[in-house]
Amino acid sequence: MKITKIETHVCNARMRNWIFVKVLTDQPGLHGWGEGTLEWHTRSVVGAIEDLSPLLIGEDPTRVEHLWQSMYRQHFWHGNGPVRGTAISAIDLALWDIIGKFYNTPCHKLWGGPVRDYIRTYCHLGGGKMEDFYETNPADAKRFADLAQKAVAEGYTAFKTMAVPETMPLEGLKPIKYAAKCVEAMRLAVGDDIDIMVDCHARPSPQMGLMFAKAVDPYGLYWFEEPCWPESVEGMADIARAVTTPIATGERLITSHQVRPFLEKRACSVIQTDITHTGGLTESRKIAALCDAYRVALAPHNPQGPVSTAASLELGFASPSYIICESVHLDVPWRSDVVSEGFVIEKKGRIVRPSTRPGLGIEINEAEVKKHPFEQELLQRSWGADGSVTDW
Ligand SMILES: [Mg+2]
Repeated sequence: MKITKIETHVCNARMRNWIFVKVLTDQPGLHGWGEGTLEWHTRSVVGAIEDLSPLLIGEDPTRVEHLWQSMYRQHFWHGNGPVRGTAISAIDLALWDIIGKFYNTPCHKLWGGPVRDYIRTYCHLGGGKMEDFYETNPADAKRFADLAQKAVAEGYTAFKTMAVPETMPLEGLKPIKYAAKCVEAMRLAVGDDIDIMVDCHARPSPQMGLMFAKAVDPYGLYWFEEPCWPESVEGMADIARAVTTPIATGERLITSHQVRPFLEKRACSVIQTDITHTGGLTESRKIAALCDAYRVALAPHNPQGPVSTAASLELGFASPSYIICESVHLDVPWRSDVVSEGFVIEKKGRIVRPSTRPGLGIEINEAEVKKHPFEQELLQRSWGADGSVTDW
């Protein structure tokens, strides 16, 4: 069997352009689907996939580890940045889909079979509607509480919010009190049985992250995410040591090499590897094994499109350290038209049982994708009160 062609299919889903990759083979009807969605870098990733293609055309798609090594190491520049890492990931996912289809078995069975009966999913406040998740004013604690109750009413037992405002490297008490009030309001609204996560988007400096983490520590968060830049592993480790709340990070770390220091320095309790950026399922399985070795939880970052979700679930059914799958369901109303999925998210508890379809268990509807061509993503630029650049 040989790879004959690699296609990219871009589908604008409002906040992001989903980049689907289709790897075709010389076996009639046998192809694989991957995804490499990287917000605000759509043209770069499409170009990077084109640049990688000469390494793959004519090769046996079932030699996925060998091809991964080739994509990562050949032509001198290693694939350890977000653009090339995403391009490698997209192709890698499609190769695993092909192997599963070739052997007529779901990917998680290729990796040793299911290690759990079901996977829990969590939502964003607002279900992925970007205004609710990103633009709810941290001064409006009641709005956070109302959206939290809505998520629970929809069957979720866990949800994520952005209750930490953008700040300068140092600011006084006001933003800290906003964050604590929002988290308190959500906890009072949903009770102790629901898991609440707060994503800081790496907005705070390490010191501000520490102050926010201490302020929300009494409310028993499931995790506190990216409380400072991932570039500051020491800052993250200081925060992790200062609070009881589990610290989560990893969505911007490309390959196991960038994950390793966070484990060695005990800088986090949850690794949120992104399967579509870090090097695909091949590299994510290595990161999952590292998480097992350090007894750190794995909860992949997954706000993207449907191939990413299918890949995350397949990984979760074969990875002991995996705890929960991120999901968005209200980003665009036509999401289910674009994909046929091998799993069902059960309304009660929003859990998913293993797919029985081969590979990743999904098929993309190319005609539906064509209805939503590339559009420039909405710009999300953030500025401090003095006009200086801040993180979004
Ligand atoms: Mg995040």
